[in-house]
Amino acid sequence: MELDSASKARIRLLYPDFAVRIIRTYVDMFEQHRIQMRMTEGLRTMARQEELYAQGRTSAGPVVTWARPGYSLHHYGVACDSCRIGNNSGKVDPWDVPWDKFAQYAKNHGLYAGFYWKKQDKPHLELAYGGMGVEQMLKLYQNNGLESVWAEFDTIRGVTQGSEWYGPQKQVRI
Ligand SMILES: [Zn+2]
Repeated sequence: MELDSASKARIRLLYPDFAVRIIRTYVDMFEQHRIQMRMTEGLRTMARQEELYAQGRTSAGPVVTWARPGYSLHHYGVACDSCRIGNNSGKVDPWDVPWDKFAQYAKNHGLYAGFYWKKQDKPHLELAYGGMGVEQMLKLYQNNGLESVWAEFDTIRGVTQGSEWYGPQKQVRI
């Protein structure tokens, strides 16, 4: 399995432990089904969420999110959306994925899958460490930025704060 460059760039912006679990899920999809997954969205800015939340409500298009800005785990680097890589002839539908299997593998790696939600969001995976509520993440974020949210995740996991973050942007190495 070789990740495409756009997916790699998105994965590097995720909380490192979450990124590892996602990569393991992608590896399972490749090894079990020969399906190469790609990441369509990872870390999302508050401004982008405002745009997305407006869609289908105050602007044109279908509703694509249930979360108000600040209330999506996408803001905190612990949520992502995926599909499969299509091909140039268009014969492979990027949404033709055995989502039940994808959700099962994700679950095996400790992730929560939107597949199981009442309002199903099949491409979506997330992990709220220690069951932390999104309100608490937002509060930490508003006070001290994303790094303070990640530091709290580290504490919950019992690892030294920042010990798994790499590089000047503290990006995950993949
Ligand atoms: Zn999502």
